[in-house]
Amino acid sequence: MIIDSHCHLESFSSPPTSFLISYSSSLHSEIKSSFITMSTMPEDWQAQIKLTQKFNHVYCALGIHPWYVESSSFEHLLELKKLMTISSVVAFGEIGLDFSPSYKKNRLLQIEILSQQLDLASRIEKPVSIHVRKAHNEMFSLLSGACVSGVIHGLGASKEVVRRYIDLGFKIGVNGIIVRDNARRYHELVRYVGLEHLVLETDFPHVKIDLLNSPKLSDILLVAQKVASLLHISLDQVLEQMAQNTHQLFNLHGMLDDK
Ligand SMILES: [Zn+2]
Repeated sequence: MIIDSHCHLESFSSPPTSFLISYSSSLHSEIKSSFITMSTMPEDWQAQIKLTQKFNHVYCALGIHPWYVESSSFEHLLELKKLMTISSVVAFGEIGLDFSPSYKKNRLLQIEILSQQLDLASRIEKPVSIHVRKAHNEMFSLLSGACVSGVIHGLGASKEVVRRYIDLGFKIGVNGIIVRDNARRYHELVRYVGLEHLVLETDFPHVKIDLLNSPKLSDILLVAQKVASLLHISLDQVLEQMAQNTHQLFNLHGMLDDK
């Protein structure tokens, strides 16, 4: 089993032909993949839920991404609370703070909407998938005051910053950028974080692994292979630990049979 802990499948105009990823090794000839597809705004919540009903190995996360926060977002939080009771909705995501120049104008609103989503997450006891850019201090104070678990998606910060998230109990999501040979800082961070605190993601279709090819669902396997080579361990070891980390975090145990 390989789990893509952060992708955006609602962009499929037609259903994906296959969710099986071929992989040859002594142990597996074909491995099953599972996906946690992230929403970004209330308008795509229903499409995400439909995907989970249609495909056995698709779960979803619902939430309001900081890029799409607006004053009317408050009204959607009640609906969000209701939809979160559906069992295939396994997390709040993707939610967060983005204070980079194009998005920082509404920082106070971002903080307010995030803190309400974190509050819901702690009451409903579901994890969160966090997007954070140029807002680490604000994020630390919100997360340390909230009783939530989750993942900081798209690894990409200094070791000190990453360490603070790990100390808060968060996993770190590593995406396709790791596969690029020139991503040295990223490689070093993965070694620093170690297998125990990582989960795998593609952020499909937003992260291109190379300049020539468009993102593919099977890129998750390349991410896993690269983690294995950086940590000098076998691919099977990576897959096993990643499945364990992701199952634990998103509470997926037993869910495959329930759906
Ligand atoms: Zn994303």
